[in-house]
Order: sequence, then structure tokens, then C-alpha cells
Amino acid sequence: MIIYIQDKINRKLEGDMENNIKRERLKEFYFKIKNCQLCELYKSRTNFVFGSGNANSPVIFIGEAPGKNEDIQGKPFVGQAGKLLDELLFSIELERSEIFIANILKCRPPGNRDPRIEEINICKNHLFKQIEIIDPKLLCTMGKFSTQLILNTSAGITGLRGKIFMVNSRAVLPINHPAAALYTPSRMVVLREDFQKIKKVLDMKENFTDGIKNIEDLEVVDYSSSGSNLRAGGEGSSISQNKDEQLGLF
Ligand code: SF4
Repeated sequence: MIIYIQDKINRKLEGDMENNIKRERLKEFYFKIKNCQLCELYKSRTNFVFGSGNANSPVIFIGEAPGKNEDIQGKPFVGQAGKLLDELLFSIELERSEIFIANILKCRPPGNRDPRIEEINICKNHLFKQIEIIDPKLLCTMGKFSTQLILNTSAGITGLRGKIFMVNSRAVLPINHPAAALYTPSRMVVLREDFQKIKKVLDMKENFTDGIKNIEDLEVVDYSSSGSNLRAGGEGSSISQNKDEQLGLF
């Protein structure tokens, strides 16, 4: 009994240590890239939007770029789409402090225009680095841009959403972007259904080294050899060690 308790304590200590390491690495990366000027978008941004949430999250939600409110506040998913995301998270017993949210672009495209391919190709390395540090079991891509980037495909979101793409031992689940679902009731219905799939994936205790098998209602696609863009790497530009209140890490 004493050995069992000691084992449990040791595992908890190891877990806490790993969480702290991830958090520190993420923080260090934030300070490294927060003054990034690698593409033209730095000129028009009010705030750089790194992303926020739990450095040890089992899931990263990936959007496309900061909008007006995000640019003003320096935080991802605020405003109406953010409220909807909170509500959807609540529906599967999660809250923001338990997950991590980031966009492909960390700076707002002027007038909320779509991200340009050259901007994505530069800024994606920041996202890949965040994925490498957090190392979640699930990536939930929200909308066309992040889905196409991560899966390295030109296919539309309608045919991809709701399926689980296994890239080695990581799952990728594309869903509709909450902003797109806000005013389209049919998209909202499937978005709610897809959040239940997120819960099923996260509820699986095992890691996915052997893929996901025999899960009711889940369509799983082996995508490991299909040229996904998932990879480690990504180097930022400017390094600044100033204190910054935008960093919402838990
Ligand atoms: S590469 Fe990304 S973080 Fe850097 S200026 Fe462009 S959008 Fe901002």
C-alpha cells in the first residue's frame, strides 16, 4: 500500500514537472516572437495575438487569424464567436483554462480580409512550434484555412469536418469555424455534433500510438502517409524579455 501511494505521488510530481516545463517553454517562445515583423501584418496590428490557454492541454483549437476584437484585446476568440466557443466547450464539460486556442496568423489582416498564402507560409512556423511544445493528442482545426494548412489539402471544410485524421499518433478533427456557424443554423447543428466527437476523443485514456479503433460514430482516416503539414520547427524573429500582460497561460 505504501509503495502504491509513493508511486502515485511520484507520477504526480513527474506530471507537474512536465507541465511546468511546457509552460516555461511556451512562455519563452512567446517572448521570442511577440515583436515579430516577418510579414507586413505587423505594420497594421494593434496587438500581437499569441494564443492562450493551458500549456498542458490535450487539445489545441486552431482558428485562422485575429479579428477586430482580438486585435484590440490581444487575445484569441473574444466577441460573439468566442462566446459561442465558450458555450460549446461548456457543453462538453471544458473551459478555456483547460484547453489551448491559437490562430495560424498572430496579427490581424486589415479589414478582416482572408489570410494570404504568403502570410500563412511565414506565420505557420509559429503555430507549428506551439504544437511541438504543447504536444496535444488532438488538434481541432476550425474552418477552412487551418484545416487545409494542417492536412495540406485544398479540399473544402464541408467534406472534411467531423472526420478524424490520424497523423502518426496525433488526431486532427476539422470542425466548422464558430464565426461561420453563428448565423447559419445548419452549420451550428453539425458544430454541436462535432463537439461531442471532440469529447469522445479526449475521453479516450490511451495515447494514439496504434491509432483509434472501434469508436462508435467516429470516422477515422489514417492520414500518416498523406503529406500532412504537421511537423516540428518554426523560429520566431525578435526576442524581448519584457513583462507582457497579454500572455494568458494557465
Ligand atoms: S509572421 Fe505572423 S506574427 Fe509575424 S508579423 Fe506576420 S502575422 Fe504577425
